[in-house]
Amino acid sequence: MRKFVFITGGVLSGLGKGVVSASIGLLFKLQGYHVSLQKIDPYVNVDAGTMNPYEHGEVFVTHDGRETDLDIGRYERFLGEELSAANYLTTGQIYWNVIRKERAGKYLGRTVQVIPHVTDEIKRLVHLPLDETDAQIGVIEVGGTVGDIESLPFLEALRQMKDELPREDTFFVHVTLLPRLTTSDELKTKPTQHSVKELRAIGIQPDAIVARCDVPLPDPVKRKIALFCDVPIENVIDNPDHPTIYHAPLRLDEYGLTRRVAAGLGLDAKRRPDLSKWVSKVRRIESPASRVRVGIVGKYVELRDSYISIREALLHAGAAEDVGADIEWIPSDAIATEGPTPRLASLDGVLIPGGFGDRGIEGKIEAVEYARTQRIPYFGLCLGLQCATIEFARNVLGLAGANSSEFDPETPHPVISLLEEQIDVALKGGTMRLGVYETELGEGSIAAACYGTRRITERHRHRYEFNPAYRDRIESAGLRIAGTSLDDRLVEVIELTDHPWFVGVQFHPEFSSRLLSPHPLFCGFMRSCLEQKASSRSSS
Ligand code: GLN
Repeated sequence: MRKFVFITGGVLSGLGKGVVSASIGLLFKLQGYHVSLQKIDPYVNVDAGTMNPYEHGEVFVTHDGRETDLDIGRYERFLGEELSAANYLTTGQIYWNVIRKERAGKYLGRTVQVIPHVTDEIKRLVHLPLDETDAQIGVIEVGGTVGDIESLPFLEALRQMKDELPREDTFFVHVTLLPRLTTSDELKTKPTQHSVKELRAIGIQPDAIVARCDVPLPDPVKRKIALFCDVPIENVIDNPDHPTIYHAPLRLDEYGLTRRVAAGLGLDAKRRPDLSKWVSKVRRIESPASRVRVGIVGKYVELRDSYISIREALLHAGAAEDVGADIEWIPSDAIATEGPTPRLASLDGVLIPGGFGDRGIEGKIEAVEYARTQRIPYFGLCLGLQCATIEFARNVLGLAGANSSEFDPETPHPVISLLEEQIDVALKGGTMRLGVYETELGEGSIAAACYGTRRITERHRHRYEFNPAYRDRIESAGLRIAGTSLDDRLVEVIELTDHPWFVGVQFHPEFSSRLLSPHPLFCGFMRSCLEQKASSRSSS
């Protein structure tokens, strides 16, 4: 069996198409189907690695090292499975493949065209993740909004699939917005009608419409959409704003989406997803027994989606530990100008996320110093490990001017530096240390206690490394090297022993946290924040 659910978007972007796609994936998985989720990004970029987090939010990394849009992270968090490079498609990648084939003479004698060559390549790559995993249902989200020039070849390819496959093997869900006029308190269906018209002009008739709206859809509005857009009224599904995105699958199922998609695909519409574990986690998120204040000191804090996996990982760990995280978003520049105390003094934990470039680095280093000396739990992710190393080298070891050669190429003490093999790399795209690598954790380390094992595998995305030339000196001054690559060459985890909880990791644990299986380091961090809160209360 092989079925496809295609998700398109109308009216405007940012309507939560990714959440709808991830929810459909989860709902079918919880009915026992083997599901694959794929995102199509109609950008000419070959991957998301060179995109600006300010514009697009976080760059997510798959276990096999592809730099993707943040929706892939959401799919993994919902599905609770690892997705691979094949689950993310861009225009750039499609053209890259087609042009390479053309150069290799694969189309010899033929004129290479969007139809059929580009569309054939799209169709091949839409089937690929299902081929690789034997998935029974593929949920494919087309990024952007119907009507954009960029997405046309993709929609054309999906249209062809609809005609080539049996009727019951494809199902199109169109996600739209119903704006409400505050003056007349009226819900307007016209933008939805127009976007469906646009879709039809491409040859696609949606099978269901998921309408984003700030209130439940009244029946007359549903009837109107059904009539004008030519879908059965039961296939017009409400998608109100959710208290958290994890409510979305529960609501969408309640409003009949699972049954309607199942019916359209000729699947058993009576089969119900087992949502019990999901429901109990969502309840925990809604009303945790206690709350802690966690400061995220970063460069891209204005756009929260830049750190979406971290925010979600804190939420998952909080649901497991029965504690909610109130996140303070702290621009690192502010610490450099105001000093750390105003922003950090009332926190129960400090987290420094990954990042690139020298802006805001000094503020982050001050934040580490504050967390170290004031004994506030500290969690450093990737750049967060590098800042902690620099801070320790400068302030404990007394190496004035210690830095990463990324931020100060002339530093007298490059405690973070490029690996030999990276020095001559000139290309920016896809040239970092990407994807999973194994780490051996030290016996008795905080990390080993959290994981409950000493051999771990985590995702990486960085170019610079802890400089081995400084390892002995730093270690003898009291910073524990708590995890290394299996050949002991690369430092993967640092810890302070004389501190309530101080852990820096060179990898990105946030990418593998899921609602139903929270990440052990995030759980450890949240527990330490809770202890911090209890101890600061008892001492004040
Ligand atoms: N800029 C640093 C490096 O390239 C850290 C990267 C990151 O935090 N992901 O090594």
